[in-house]
Amino acid sequence: MLKPYGLNELREMFLAFFEEKGHLRLPSFPLIPQNDASLLLIGSGMAPMKSWFTGEQEPPRKRVCTCQKSVRTVDIDSVGKTARHASYFEMLGNFSFGDYFKKEAITWCWEFLTQRLGIDSNLLYPSVYFEDAQAFEIWKNDIGIDPERIVKLGKDDNFWDHGSGPCGPCSEVYFDRGKKHGCGKVGCFPGCDCDRYVEIWNNVFTQYNNDGAGNYTDLSQKNIDTGMGLERLACVCQGVGSIFEVDTIVSIINKVSEISGISYKEADISDVSIRIITDHTRAATMMICDGILPSNEGRGYVLRRLLRRAARHGRLLGIEKMFLSDVCDVVIELNKNAYPDLIDKTDFIKRCINTEEENFGRTINAGLSMLSDLIDELKATGKSMLSGEDAFKLYDTYGFPLDLTLDILAESNMNVDTAAFDMHMEEQRIRARKAREALGDLAWAGIELGLDNTPTSFTGYEKTSDTGVVLAIVKQGEICSALGEGDEGIIVLDKTPFYAEMGGQSADMGTICAGNALFEVTGVQVSKGDKYLHSGKMRSGAISAQQTVSAEINEQRREAIKRAHTATHLMHKALRSVLGEHVNQAGSLVEPDKIRFDFTHFSALTKEELADIERRVNEAILNGHPVTAKETPIDEAKKLGAAALFGEKYGDIVRVVTMGESVEFCGGTHLDNTAKAGAFTILTESSIASGVRRIEAITGFATLDLLHASRKQLSSLSEMLKAGSPEELSGKIEQNILIIRELKSKLDSAISKEADDEARRILSEARDIGGLKVITTIIKGASVDTDKLRQIEDTLREWEAGVVAVIAAVKDDKITIMAACGKTAIEKGIKAGELIHGVTKICGGSGGGKPEFAMGGGKDVSKLQEALDTVDELVKKLTT
Ligand code: ATP
Ligand code: MG
Repeated sequence: MLKPYGLNELREMFLAFFEEKGHLRLPSFPLIPQNDASLLLIGSGMAPMKSWFTGEQEPPRKRVCTCQKSVRTVDIDSVGKTARHASYFEMLGNFSFGDYFKKEAITWCWEFLTQRLGIDSNLLYPSVYFEDAQAFEIWKNDIGIDPERIVKLGKDDNFWDHGSGPCGPCSEVYFDRGKKHGCGKVGCFPGCDCDRYVEIWNNVFTQYNNDGAGNYTDLSQKNIDTGMGLERLACVCQGVGSIFEVDTIVSIINKVSEISGISYKEADISDVSIRIITDHTRAATMMICDGILPSNEGRGYVLRRLLRRAARHGRLLGIEKMFLSDVCDVVIELNKNAYPDLIDKTDFIKRCINTEEENFGRTINAGLSMLSDLIDELKATGKSMLSGEDAFKLYDTYGFPLDLTLDILAESNMNVDTAAFDMHMEEQRIRARKAREALGDLAWAGIELGLDNTPTSFTGYEKTSDTGVVLAIVKQGEICSALGEGDEGIIVLDKTPFYAEMGGQSADMGTICAGNALFEVTGVQVSKGDKYLHSGKMRSGAISAQQTVSAEINEQRREAIKRAHTATHLMHKALRSVLGEHVNQAGSLVEPDKIRFDFTHFSALTKEELADIERRVNEAILNGHPVTAKETPIDEAKKLGAAALFGEKYGDIVRVVTMGESVEFCGGTHLDNTAKAGAFTILTESSIASGVRRIEAITGFATLDLLHASRKQLSSLSEMLKAGSPEELSGKIEQNILIIRELKSKLDSAISKEADDEARRILSEARDIGGLKVITTIIKGASVDTDKLRQIEDTLREWEAGVVAVIAAVKDDKITIMAACGKTAIEKGIKAGELIHGVTKICGGSGGGKPEFAMGGGKDVSKLQEALDTVDELVKKLTT
C-alpha cells in the first residue's frame, strides 16, 4: 500500500535521495531570471542553470539537485480545466553537468519512484524518443520493463530543443490514473492529452548542440536535466483526483469555499473558479515575494493578469468583499517553512494584493455590466464576435485588458475582432503622438531640418568647451540662414560639449560664440536624427549657417548636475537594499544639486527607512568610491548585473556607470568620485500613483543652503521668543505653551461666566405666553460672537424647560439668528427649526435645524423686528 506522503514531505524526500547520490542541494532560484533577458519568468528547474549546461560557467558541483519555483504563462488557460496544470508549481530536478548520464538518471528515477516512494510499477509507463535506442535498452535490460510498456514518442513530445544551444532526447515517466480518468478513445495511451496518463517526470539527455539551423553535433559535455512536478507527484502518492486536492493546496481550496460559501465539487463551473482563484493566488503570492509588482508590462503584467482573473472569478462565485489577501494568508502559512522569505514579506505581499484588488474593483463593475449587456445583445442577434470598437471602449474607459474581455467572452463561446481592436489601439497611439507634436516639443523639429542622419558628436564627457559647425538655424519654427541680435531660435551643431535633456538629466546651459557674436543657450534637445538642438537667444552680433563657432557650457551648473546624478545612482542602490529588489526606477529628474526620483513601491516609507536610506547614501559618498563609465556590449553589461530600465530599448553597446556597489546603464554625466557629491539630504517622500513613490532630495551646495536657511530660521525664532540660543528654544516654547494653556482656560471660564450672566439677563426679560417663556431679542455690534451666542442658547435650554428663545445678532448688516426650545416647549409643538425657517424667510435669508436648536442667516435688517414678532404669534397659536 502506497503511503500518502505530504507535499512538503515529498520535497524533502526527493532532495535527500539525490543528496545521497552525491548531489549538491541548492535552494530554489528566484522566479525573476537573473542575467537572462531571453526569459520573462523561470519555468523549469534547468532554466536558471543554462550557463552550467553550455559550459559557459562552472557549476558549484557536477551533480546538483533543486526544488525550483516555476511559473508557466502558457499553462494559465489550462488552469482549473485540467487536473494537472498549475500556473505556479514546484519542479523537482536532478542535474548532471558532464558527469553521469542516461543509465544513472533512469536507474535513480525508477529507484526513487518505486522503492523510495513505493509506487506500483505496474502503473508506471516510461516513454523514450523513438530514435533513442540507448534509453530503450536501459529501460528494457537494466530496469527490466516489458518492451510493450515502453512508449516511443516523436520529436514533439520527446526531444527537448529550444533553438540554438544544448538539446537532446527525453525519457518521461507516465502514471496511469485509471480508466475512469480516460477519454476512452482508441489509442488512449501514455502521451494522450487526456487526464488518464499523467506525465510526472521528464528526463532530458542534453547530448547535442543545435547550431540554430537544425545541424546537431555531439556536445563535449553530456548533461542530465530532469524535471518532476512536485504537485503532480503528491497527487499520485495521495491518490487524489487533481493537483488541487493534494494536502497543501486543498487547504487553499477550502478557504476559497469558506469565503464564497460554495462547497467544492458542488457544481463544475464554480469548481473551475475555485481552482483558478486557488492557483492564481498561490502564483501571485510567490511572484510578489520574489520582487515582482503588478504593472502593465512584462512579468508585472503576468502578475496583474493573474490577480485580476482571481478577483473576477471571486465575483463569479458571488464574493462581494475584498478576499484575496485572506486566501494569501493560507498560501503563506502552507509555504513559509519551505520559503521563509514569505514570513518577512507577509505584510508587503498582502498590501500589494489588496491594492491591486481594490484598484481593479473600482473599474470592473461598470465594465462588467457593459460587457454583459453586449453579450446579451450578441446572443439576441445570433452573433458571436464582439466588435473591436466595443472591446477598445472597454479597454479605454473601464481599464479592461483585452485578455480579460476574451476570457469572459470565451465562457459564452464568443470572440473579439482583435484586428479591429488593434486598429483602434494604433489610432490611439497616433492621436497621442499628434498631441505631443502639437505641444511643439522641440525634439520633433528635427523632422523638418532636412539634414542627414549623422548624429551630432557629443564631446561633453571629456570637454566643457569645443568648436563646431552650425548645420542649421531655426527661427520661429522655420529654417533660416542666420540669427541676429535679439533673435530667439535654435542652433544645430555637428559637434558639441552640451549635454541634451535625456534620461531625466537636465540639459547644460552656456554660450555659443563666434567673434563678438554671442548666443545664450538655455535648453538643449536631441532631434529625431540625433542632432543636438541648442535653443536660446542671440545676445549680441549674428551667427549664420555653416559658420564655425565655439560652444562653452556653464561649468558650475554641469558640476551641480553631476553631483545630483551620481547621488541618484547611490540612492537607487540604497532604496533596493533597504526596501527590496522590487524597487525599480519609474522616472527621474536630475537638476543642479536637485533630485526627483520615482520608483515602484507599495507603501509610504517609514521615518526609519528614510533615515536608513539617507545614511547609506552619505556613507557611500564619504567612502569616496571612484566613479567609472565604460562602454561595453550589452550582454557583458548584463553579466555585471547592471540595473537596466525595464522596457527601455538599448543599443548593442551600452554605457555602464559603476560606483561602489552601484552598477547602472547610464548615458549621463557623473563625478569621478562619489565624495564630490557633498552631503545628501532627503526633502520629501510621497505617492504619485498607485504603487509609485517619489523622493525629492538635494546634494552639494543645496544641502549647504538648506543648512544656512534652517540655521537662520532657528536664530530668528530664538530672537522672537527671547531664547538666548537655539538650544534654549524648546524650553522656551514649552514655557509659552504652558502660559497659553493657562490663559486659554482663564479666558474660557470668563466667557462662560459672561454667557451665563447674559443668559440670566435675557431670561429675566422673557415674556410669559401660554405658560412658556418667550424671548426674542436683537444683539448688535462688533462684539457679537456666534460661539458665545450658541452657548447662551444652550444654557437657556438647560435652565428653563419652557423656553422659546430666538436671538438675532447683527454685525456689519449681516444677520445671524439662533433659536432654542426647551423640552416643555417642544412638547407643545414648537420646533426651533420651524421658527428659524419662518423668521429667516421674512428677513431675506434661510436656515433650519432640529426642534431643540436651529440657526440661519438673513440680509434685510429693516425686516428683522417684524420677523421676530411672528414668534409670539406662533407660540400663542400653538399654546391656546
Ligand atoms: P504537460 O504536457 O503535462 O503540460 P510538459 O511536457 O509541459 O507537461 P515538462 O516541460 O516536461 O512538462 O516539465 C517537467 C515536469 O514538470 C512535468 O513532468 C510535470 O510533472 C511538471 N509540470 C509541467 N507543467 C506543469 C504545470 N503547468 N503544473 C504542474 N506541473 C507541471
Ligand atoms: Mg506543458
